[in-house]
Amino acid sequence: MTLDDCRALDRQDPLAPLRDLFTLPEGVIYLDGNSLGVLPAAAPARIAQVVTEEWGQGLIRSWNSASWFDLPQRLGDKVARLIGAAPGEVVCTDSTSINLYKVLFAALSQQRDSGRKQVLSERSNFPTDLYIAESLCRERGFVLTLIDSVDELRDALTDDVAVLLLTHVNYRTGAMHDMKAVTAAAHAAGALTVWDLAHSAGAVPVALNEADADFAIGCGYKYLNGGPGAPAFVWVHTRHAGAFEQPLSGWWGHAAPFEFTPHYRPAPGVGRYLCGTQPIVALAGLECGLDTVLAAEAFNGDFGPMAALRSKSLALTDAFIALVEQRCADRFTLVTPRDHAQRGSQVCLAMREPHPTAAYAIVQALIAHGVIGDYRAGDAQTPHILRFGFTPLYLGFEDVWNAVEHIVQVLDANEWQRAEFNQKNAVT
Ligand SMILES: *Cc1c(COP(=O)(O)O)cnc(C)c1O
Repeated sequence: MTLDDCRALDRQDPLAPLRDLFTLPEGVIYLDGNSLGVLPAAAPARIAQVVTEEWGQGLIRSWNSASWFDLPQRLGDKVARLIGAAPGEVVCTDSTSINLYKVLFAALSQQRDSGRKQVLSERSNFPTDLYIAESLCRERGFVLTLIDSVDELRDALTDDVAVLLLTHVNYRTGAMHDMKAVTAAAHAAGALTVWDLAHSAGAVPVALNEADADFAIGCGYKYLNGGPGAPAFVWVHTRHAGAFEQPLSGWWGHAAPFEFTPHYRPAPGVGRYLCGTQPIVALAGLECGLDTVLAAEAFNGDFGPMAALRSKSLALTDAFIALVEQRCADRFTLVTPRDHAQRGSQVCLAMREPHPTAAYAIVQALIAHGVIGDYRAGDAQTPHILRFGFTPLYLGFEDVWNAVEHIVQVLDANEWQRAEFNQKNAVT
């Protein structure tokens, strides 16, 4: 693969105009949209409008006149189009961690009379998911069981498992589960499923209803470009919608919050997942982010908003893998699955010769070059990882070429060995 090949791919790329929907700093190749999405060009003016007009002029009237009140549901309907859910099944609210607490509590409540005692997850799951599960299990008398590989799943799905809690695309490796098959296996074993879509929503096609999943949550500030700390989302299958218990039973999840009655009566459906007054400015930012992803709908014919994004995402990650292997195969091994069916929208590399600081320092040196990826620490069992996220909305194939060119420069000149790149920052 050559630079000319990459330029040719860019010329044929129907999604290339979508880059104009974003404000990217000059000279930056951004490969970290999996951690914090890029600023939508429309966001500053929209957020300013919410602040100066809707808040400044409308004041409290804006809950009605600017439709603040139903914002979590309205944005939820936009998210639904990206995750194979129907309108009315999703709300945008709170953080992923808090939403996980709510859905896991609900799922465990539903299994209360089953006698089942385990929550099953993966040791490699994102830590917040494990921490929330750990404390909920302790509080409610369940045991958290962790498997080390998806190969152990079938054996681990015993008749003692109440809930299977998985992240669809692994944050470290980019490996993706077969949601439909895994959900079917969980159901056959009598377990409910909770899916974390933090690295899936806006990154890969998701079909929650088709997979017959039970509960799902996901993140607003990664591939959905909602801004730092943007509200997250929560989905529940309609078969559970009238039944599930919400442990954070605040007034916004009440069937009639403005009747101010002394007792809690949950709203029908997913609306009960709201807790208190919603962060309107942050929700306005999230809407701008969602609109950037939904803009891809125009290019997708009848295949839903994610189809064209997915084919470009795979082409970008394929190109990156090919170029890394062509130019620095002696330095890295590929951690992300090659099989398209098992790959999210990121590529992770580990050092061929294990080294305590090289992965971190190479990422730091690359950032100094304007190539922003990130580093995820390993331990005795798992390698340190260089992680590169590929967002088809604003990345092109020449960006991929240039990123690999910078990697080669950082390695060839041993730049990463400089002291300045070996000092750990608080956020990695
Ligand atoms: C990013 C991420 C989160 C983030 O949770 P916050 O509550 O937003 O901090 C949770 N789970 C997974 C799997 C993630 O990748």
